[in-house]
Amino acid sequence: MTFSVHGLAVSRGVAIGRAVLVASSRADVSHYFIDPATTNDEIARVRLSRNAVMEEIMRLQHDLPKDAPHEIAALLDVHLMLLQDEMLISGVKHWITERHYNAEWALTTQYELIARQFDEMEDAYLRERKADLEQVVERILCHMKGSASPLQAARQGAARAGSSRRQSQQDLLLDDTLDVPLVLVAHDISPADMLQFKQSLFAGFATDVGGRTSHTAIVARSMDIPAVVGARSASQLIKQDDWVIIDGDAGVLIVDPSPIILAEYGFKQRQGELERQRLNRLRHTPALTMDGQRIELLANIEMPDDTLGAVEAGAVGVGLFRSEFLFMGRNGKLPDENEQYLAYRKAIEGMQGMPVTIRTVDIGSDKPLDRPTAKSQEGHLNPALGLRAIRWSLADPPMFLTQLRAILRAAAHGQVNLLVPMLAHASEIRQTLDLINQARAQLDKRGFVYGPVRLGAMIEIPAAALTVPVFLKYFDFLSIGTNDLTQYTLAIDRSDEAVAHLYDPCHPAVLRLVADTIAECNAQGKGVSVCGEMAGDVHMTRLLLGLGLRSFSMHPSQILSVKQQVLRADAAKLRLWAQEVLNSEDPSVMLQAS
Ligand code: PEP
Ligand code: MG
Repeated sequence: MTFSVHGLAVSRGVAIGRAVLVASSRADVSHYFIDPATTNDEIARVRLSRNAVMEEIMRLQHDLPKDAPHEIAALLDVHLMLLQDEMLISGVKHWITERHYNAEWALTTQYELIARQFDEMEDAYLRERKADLEQVVERILCHMKGSASPLQAARQGAARAGSSRRQSQQDLLLDDTLDVPLVLVAHDISPADMLQFKQSLFAGFATDVGGRTSHTAIVARSMDIPAVVGARSASQLIKQDDWVIIDGDAGVLIVDPSPIILAEYGFKQRQGELERQRLNRLRHTPALTMDGQRIELLANIEMPDDTLGAVEAGAVGVGLFRSEFLFMGRNGKLPDENEQYLAYRKAIEGMQGMPVTIRTVDIGSDKPLDRPTAKSQEGHLNPALGLRAIRWSLADPPMFLTQLRAILRAAAHGQVNLLVPMLAHASEIRQTLDLINQARAQLDKRGFVYGPVRLGAMIEIPAAALTVPVFLKYFDFLSIGTNDLTQYTLAIDRSDEAVAHLYDPCHPAVLRLVADTIAECNAQGKGVSVCGEMAGDVHMTRLLLGLGLRSFSMHPSQILSVKQQVLRADAAKLRLWAQEVLNSEDPSVMLQAS
């Protein structure tokens, strides 16, 4: 029966496919299609790992001291029984044989199916066996890590080696071994795990939690595939393999759609495709307003390879490289200087002479370093107000110096802007600049070549927006992070769907801080750009132009739509109207009416 689930629209377009349910804790399990010729090898990987776990348990049973509590023996029996359960084994075989899922994916998919059945059981004792099933699956997965298939080994190697091999992985993922599109449904996905899906096979995403500017949503948007977050109980209501339509424009999921609804959305999907093709014609058109103002449209990227999409979309540079994504999903092991240097250099070379703005690491809040070990997260009730971004960097000078040296060295290969996040105090500014000088001195001493950088600060805390002249004394340019500026001005957690309706970048207070920052920079002849999601929102383009903004940084997928707005705008004429919007009690109403 058709039903719909409502959430927040975060990435445009329509995806139609079968649901793949992924438990939050399992999002880092690899998902890829195998070559059908290797089906038996893949099944053997699961079987061997399962046998190894069974042997382990039998050994434990054998070595169990006579006086051990009998509950332990009973538990081991249950685990053995679950491991031999026909439903688990035949289900895993089904996913591998029929769908060509890799072994880990097949196992976790089957686990999700059985776990749901446990959830529905009346008998409390049986319901609790779900935890046992989870434990045995976890152990099989653990064993499988040691028996990675050649493809998986290649995949891991590719992830380490970089893009050239990634390309071949992508070829495999897009192999036509499966003709049904898949949409991913999860309770939550961390930004790091989301990044793993970046080159994935999923046609759309939906999560129960998250806000419009949560980093998971931002990464989904950067993938330019339809996504809905904050859909509350979607992962409970939707079953594995259900047909789902993700309407990323309306923020709605339609489950088990009727043929009429399917036809309607199929039409909408084709319309979207045509619109994209039409916009594509603007790729080489200079971003000039009708009154001749040149507007800089820059790209936000998470990884060096994203520069490909940036250049393709006609970006004239990178306005925000979120370097923290190089630090995440690595079991807490930080990238060393050389690894970082190579990544930054790759991004610089990828932009073919155009400027690249590298933001120093912004770990913390909803971007933990790594789930189990994040120092910046442990025991903190308000991570967004805690040891995040520059605060984390200044708390660990050797780590920060390593990153600064890597950026400075990379700057020898092209135009680099170094951007510092979350500054609020003059003392933090001075400390940061001091560390940049120390990094230069260390490179001099070690005889490394490095290049000049323009220094910039992010304005994303109200305190910073209210003291812009102090920032301009020290920095060459400013970049307004409207995602955090909104969060901190309104005291609304940007990742919390429960308060998402109050997260309003158009609140007069937020707009006032944005407007004053732009005006002050323009008055002093300093560069200013907006790199928060506001910059890529076509409903905001005219207002920002009217407020005097000439540099916008956004995900490559949004550049052409924003360019279209720029081409239709008369910046001089928008000035007065923008002031009216600014002074209005309810700017969003004026923006909608315009
Ligand atoms: C912002 O806060 O607007 C911003 C661009 O930084 P991030 O989204 O990475 O916090
Ligand atoms: Mg920010």
